[in-house]
Amino acid sequence: MEKLSVLGIRVDNLELEEIGRVTLRLISEKKPSIYISLGSLTVMLAKKDAAYKNIIESAELVICDGFGVKAAIRLLTGKKLPRLTGVELVSFFAGLAEKKGCRIFLLGASEAVIKEAKNQLERSFPALIICGYSNGYSDIIITNEVKKKIKEAAPDILLAGLGQPRQEKWLSENSRELGVPVSLGVGGSFDVISGKIKRAPLFFQKLGLEWLFRMLLEPRRIKRNFVLLKYLMLIIKDKITGGK
Ligand code: UDP
Repeated sequence: MEKLSVLGIRVDNLELEEIGRVTLRLISEKKPSIYISLGSLTVMLAKKDAAYKNIIESAELVICDGFGVKAAIRLLTGKKLPRLTGVELVSFFAGLAEKKGCRIFLLGASEAVIKEAKNQLERSFPALIICGYSNGYSDIIITNEVKKKIKEAAPDILLAGLGQPRQEKWLSENSRELGVPVSLGVGGSFDVISGKIKRAPLFFQKLGLEWLFRMLLEPRRIKRNFVLLKYLMLIIKDKITGGK
């Protein structure tokens, strides 16, 4: 696997097949590991937060999520990274788990959303074993209840939709204790899977304008778009100066 970087933050050149292969190996070895799904906002967060950057550096896999990272790598290195958004990642792991008989735990979002996301996934993947779920608002940082629930459910894969960087920080602090072989953050994916938030029409997705669609639906996201603009400027600067 080739490790690349965007503005000094790690991202891996990974085919889906390789993600599947590594996942099954980690599950058979029962070795607790974390994957990161890296979008432009993740890069900007990690640039400001050394602890977060370290979590990304020491993750088992860093998967490209988002047009911004894919486009930056293309511009800076000429390489074509496969891109998987959070929702696509959830589908990918649900499909893999269904095929191989692995157990999945869903963590995050409100109670109504996570329940509905579980229903939707069970509809799409009828043989999938969802061994447990929990909303992301039960004082997750201080209570041990969620951890107990996860340990008892003994999943092979833990999908945590708590938003970045919260989800990765929580997983990095707890994954060893939880003993789950593969854990990863999936941001707001459960909101989309449950139908609470609409995914952008294909037209927006293809042009890499999903952020614009989401901003129109949720104007509170506007601040994020200033961060994305700064990201874009840094990438252009990097291209002009060759990263110096
Ligand atoms: N969330 C949660 N617990 C919290 C805060 C947020 O479970 O304490 C959930 C929230 O309901 C949403 C997701 O985390 O489903 C964050 O989604 P967002 O789109 O903000 O995250 P991103 O995809 O940008 O990381």
